[in-house]
Amino acid sequence: MEKLAILGGTPVRTKPISYGRQYIDNADIQAVVDTLRSDYLTVGPKTKELEEKLCKITGAKYCVAVSNGTAALHIAAIAAGIGPGDEVITTPITFAASANCVLYVGAKPVFADINPETYNIDPASIRACITDKTKAIVAVDFTGQATELDEIRSICKEHNLVLIEDAAHSIGTKYNGVPVGNIADMTTFSFHPVKTVTAGEGGAVTTNDEELYKKLVLAHTHGITRDIAQMKNPTDDPWYNEQVGFGYNYRITEFQAALLMSQLDKLDMFSKRRKEIVKTYDEAFADVPQIQVQKEIPESDTTRHLYILRLHLEMLNCTRREFFDALRAEGISSQVHYLPVYWHSYYEGLGYPKGLCPEAEKYYQESMSLPLFYSMTDEDVADVIFAVKKIIVYYAK
Ligand SMILES: *Cc1c(COP(=O)(O)O)cnc(C)c1O
Repeated sequence: MEKLAILGGTPVRTKPISYGRQYIDNADIQAVVDTLRSDYLTVGPKTKELEEKLCKITGAKYCVAVSNGTAALHIAAIAAGIGPGDEVITTPITFAASANCVLYVGAKPVFADINPETYNIDPASIRACITDKTKAIVAVDFTGQATELDEIRSICKEHNLVLIEDAAHSIGTKYNGVPVGNIADMTTFSFHPVKTVTAGEGGAVTTNDEELYKKLVLAHTHGITRDIAQMKNPTDDPWYNEQVGFGYNYRITEFQAALLMSQLDKLDMFSKRRKEIVKTYDEAFADVPQIQVQKEIPESDTTRHLYILRLHLEMLNCTRREFFDALRAEGISSQVHYLPVYWHSYYEGLGYPKGLCPEAEKYYQESMSLPLFYSMTDEDVADVIFAVKKIIVYYAK
């Protein structure tokens, strides 16, 4: 048996590999530089072009590009008309922003449990959480895999709820052949550097509903409009614009938009490589009894953002922390996605008790994310697999 690096053995990698990394090429750099030399740094043609491009990719009718994915969730919550007294159901296995957007508008996040095999929100648990205060669902495509959208949409129809799909992980994913972004009432995206395509910081909301679109536009730019049709006190003064609603400044810059457009040109390429890596991992771990491979629902053609290594700890003589540290010592960086949102001390302070979602809590204690990014070489992937198996063999009961 090979000696683990953490116990003084030779590490699999001398040059550590990170768990995620953006891929920026010369075309991306040129796009940003060209925009910096143009007339507009914000509110210009690139943002419009980006919105059109995202509509084309997703098939959605309307798109509002914004400064980040959290802003996208916030304006979606505003456009949905969520407010004090309302409840919004979401998953605890997500980045905090999926629930924070509910707090931003004064409403209460309610956490449904996850499916222990797909790690996405469990529709049966959603049903159990519905009350007469439920206004919306924020469904997250965790790791990039589409949630059970058919089932969740029918729950929304039955109870007259707004469906916001947090697709921060899932650009490029299709559900029953339809791209995410063209399925829920509103779909939000994030273009943070760890995500599949990046704008540095950036986000977007897509929708097919014109009324929602108008509200999204207002909310992302101070509630101010130049559209006479929307004004209460229209004048023909050429300088006149009117604040007709409540909003924020969540605009994206022109150079972020240009970077993202250039990145989107590579989406198919990114997607293909991510799928290859996931397939290689899945095949390598399929016959390792100590590892649970994430289940894919047949409806989802997934562009994976994260690869989850879930351990059957009852079959190992180590803790998740020991595994994580051993992996790091081998030169493989990992991360945990995510602490159940309501375990954060802030949420604890709001009164959410431990034990609320047992499947989510169990998942959290057994999981970590392996490196997954476009520019990983086959050798990198092989090193990760070798390191994981080396540690499994050492700690196997
Ligand atoms: C990254 C992320 C967000 C927030 O996006 P930002 O662009 O970082 O604000 C929201 N939800 C999920 C699931 C995310 O992973």
